[in-house]
Amino acid sequence: MARYVFITGGVVSSLGKGLASAALGALLQARGYTVRLRKLDPYLNVDPGTMSPTQHGEVFVTDDGAETDLDLGHYERFTGIPASKKDNITTGRIYQDIIAKERRGDYLGGTVQVIPHVTDAIKHFVRDGNEAFDFVLVEIGGTVGDIEGLPFFEAIRQLGNDLPRGDAIYIHLTLLPWIPSAGELKTKPTQHSVKELRSIGIQPDILLCRCDRPIPPEERRKLGLFCNVRESAVIEARDVDTIYEVPEAYHREGLDTEVLRAFGIEPQAAPDLTRWREVTRRVRQPEGEVTIAIVGKYTGLKDAYKSLYEALVHGGVANTVKVNVDWIESEIFESADPAPYLEHVHGILVPGGFGQRGAEGKIRAATFARERKVPYFGICFGMQMAVIEAARSLAGVSEANSTEFGPTPEPIVGLMTEWVRGNALESRHAEGDLGGTMRLGAYDARLRQGSKVAEIYGSNDISERHRHRYEVNTDYRERLEEKGLVFSGMSPDGLLPEIVEYADHPWFVGVQFHPELKSRPFEPHPLFASFVEAALAQSRLV
Ligand code: GLN
Repeated sequence: MARYVFITGGVVSSLGKGLASAALGALLQARGYTVRLRKLDPYLNVDPGTMSPTQHGEVFVTDDGAETDLDLGHYERFTGIPASKKDNITTGRIYQDIIAKERRGDYLGGTVQVIPHVTDAIKHFVRDGNEAFDFVLVEIGGTVGDIEGLPFFEAIRQLGNDLPRGDAIYIHLTLLPWIPSAGELKTKPTQHSVKELRSIGIQPDILLCRCDRPIPPEERRKLGLFCNVRESAVIEARDVDTIYEVPEAYHREGLDTEVLRAFGIEPQAAPDLTRWREVTRRVRQPEGEVTIAIVGKYTGLKDAYKSLYEALVHGGVANTVKVNVDWIESEIFESADPAPYLEHVHGILVPGGFGQRGAEGKIRAATFARERKVPYFGICFGMQMAVIEAARSLAGVSEANSTEFGPTPEPIVGLMTEWVRGNALESRHAEGDLGGTMRLGAYDARLRQGSKVAEIYGSNDISERHRHRYEVNTDYRERLEEKGLVFSGMSPDGLLPEIVEYADHPWFVGVQFHPELKSRPFEPHPLFASFVEAALAQSRLV
């Protein structure tokens, strides 16, 4: 029977609830328990797929093709367990289901209400399919007191009574701000936040307190007393210099011990944190460094490229080097020469993206990388732009473009209207809905024997996660291959280009999928490990 840990947040947003949940998951795993992590998002979008990454950060895609919250990326990276569409739900999705049922007549004669219909749907989602797990960690998005979060808080409150006594606990993550003029860490915002939580019927069992310095005994006593929590359950969550240190840091402060005790379990041996120590050591004591330019268009918000950044860190871990990132707005290259921005970097990465703004700048970055023989990694949109670049500069197709930006006489990249998933044909048309209709999730690809990517993967068959509506047009394949751009990865039916590479370049790879989504600190993705290795070789040249 699964035990439930509900994780809520207070005081301010962005305290790292997702990371805290992922770290607790990793600690319980390191003690030999099986865990599952799930996220409840109170916003009204059915999923984050239609939101700009500058609003809500990256959209994390699961193997089974769901567009989910970026916290699921933390869960995967920390526990190594692939997330699924069943691990994230939003208010929008819940209402969509309920309203569809209402129209069908399932509630005939009844009034459909937040309590019990919405709360029941949330509870059903939370409890569904957990038989095989020792612990289910459920993170509630937003902060306590948000109007849209209320049904979720009510649902997890009810679950405290629905579940057998002692099978659910509540952790509240808060902030203890340091006030320099008073020279004190302040507990009042946390007291207010807990008061708010208690007013809706939830008494936290554990307080996880974000702070930038140690919590003095007096403040700890106050927190315990005023928040009705035992002092040992006030856990200091101090800032750390790498996120991969978080599990160990929380363990040192007693988080996993307190969680087990809250369930009446007396902890036995200490958790085995060897692999976390090794990752942290490599991050802390690199033997060199490289600089990678990320030429993108959502560079204002780091969360927009969360998995990408972490995958580069993992590539660094694989090579025991530090990866510095230069974030460059690609639009700059539409009026300025890229050289001064790119001459000193050891690798250029053009990530996924949507829309025309900044596209020409990305193409110029690809030209620079190709001509100057700087390692280039094009991901999804970054691959598409590299192929357009090759068509224009090498194959003489001067009007080469993507139909994503409007009608073009030379559609090097075009709208995908049909493709095969397993044994089924998926089809879309230009006027269809935009939400949830891309080529999404894991697809197999076959790699060309003897290609660079086959060597990097150590295999000719791979599976990677996709999220795109357009594809490279194979009508141009021959002309491009003649000029040296090898189509080294294709869909199993041979119709969709998955990877391109130049044989006569130290490292120039474009992939139609998102390898960053599958990279983990303990298993750095081979493409990222290899790209950072190539950047390291480049650093010895410049
Ligand atoms: N906009 C492009 C497409 O839809 C690329 C998408 C992406 O980079 N994820 O095909």
